[in-house]
Amino acid sequence: MDLDKLQGLIGIFARTHEKDLWRVNKHIHENPEPHYEETQAHDTICDLLEDSGFNVTRHAYGLSTAFEAEYGLGGGLVSYNAEYDALPCESEGYHHACGHNLIATSSIAAFLFTVDIIKATGIQGRVRLLGTPAEESGGGKIDLIEAGAYRGVDASLMAHPYADMEFGEGVSCPQTLAINSVKVNFRGKEAHAAASPWDGINALDAVVAAYNNISMLRQQLPLTQRVHGIISNGGERPNVIPGLTTMEVHARAATDAELKILCKKLEDCILAGAQASGCQVECSWDRAYKNLQNSETIAEVFTKSMQVIGRDFKSKSDGNIGGSTDQGNVTHEIPGIHPLFLIPTPEGSGPHTPGFAAAAGTYGSFLCALDVGKGLAVAGYQLLADPDLRQKAWDEHLRK
Ligand SMILES: [Zn+2]
Ligand SMILES: [Zn+2]
Repeated sequence: MDLDKLQGLIGIFARTHEKDLWRVNKHIHENPEPHYEETQAHDTICDLLEDSGFNVTRHAYGLSTAFEAEYGLGGGLVSYNAEYDALPCESEGYHHACGHNLIATSSIAAFLFTVDIIKATGIQGRVRLLGTPAEESGGGKIDLIEAGAYRGVDASLMAHPYADMEFGEGVSCPQTLAINSVKVNFRGKEAHAAASPWDGINALDAVVAAYNNISMLRQQLPLTQRVHGIISNGGERPNVIPGLTTMEVHARAATDAELKILCKKLEDCILAGAQASGCQVECSWDRAYKNLQNSETIAEVFTKSMQVIGRDFKSKSDGNIGGSTDQGNVTHEIPGIHPLFLIPTPEGSGPHTPGFAAAAGTYGSFLCALDVGKGLAVAGYQLLADPDLRQKAWDEHLRK
């Protein structure tokens, strides 16, 4: 089917599903849930899919808030990722300050529209919707990769809302940073801070020394690297030499290889703080998120698909956006993309701010996500309809 005809058809498909998609989008936005606890989002999306006649695997791949739905036969397999976890709010509870309700909406829309296109064209091919919990922390997609959720998938597509962009209405190949984080315990020995401070081993000194070492390290880091952290426990009382302190630090770099070197330097800063103060130290590292390894083949198809929908997406951004995503890990396994799309936000309200959380709930932002869902579906259809295109994406992936 040519793209002009598809443009008309997809508008009809979107109108059919719009009401349901808005309801789900609103429900997820109004009921923000933390990572691995996205029960309402999971149930709401699974209910919609089951009501629409799909077989859904709830609690898929051993994760209570993951799910999977699939449609089609033979051919290639295109998969869309729906995220739906929220962030802690300064005042209280959680809010959708990263707009993951819109990620869910665009991916559910993409899945439903691709199914409609498969039915309308009769092509061979399969489309999958994966519910991927815990992106903000935890790394749900790392769990899913390890459990085999992406085995046999030819392309993994999803898109993320963004604000204040200098690149039109979106960018198909943003660069993100690889990230790892560490939780650190320093253990010393408590003592009366006035009567016998010489009997103590000061765990506050250890954490302060470690923080200062890290601050000095930061001065020499290239622009593609970031280190940021907090002292999460600096002791209990001023009249007790602290026996236990804790800190949490994040390290980010342009590539996985660079990140490994940076993490080693960071650990040296931490160990030096322990050594100088005579404390014991335990470092517990998280699982790393890799940088996005964008499939340029798929991104090009997606950019053109968004043009068909009437949205102006740039193929690449200048420089790194500074953020990180576990979709990075997926793109190191199989060809994949993670474009950013602009939503209307108040001035200066980028992701992870209250302004962005409010903007993620508006009907205007929903319409942006709906259009991205259309573009993802048009791209997905082209990948299913053209084995050479899938092969080209795999060839590019295997070269990297
Ligand atoms: Zn975020
Ligand atoms: Zn996000």
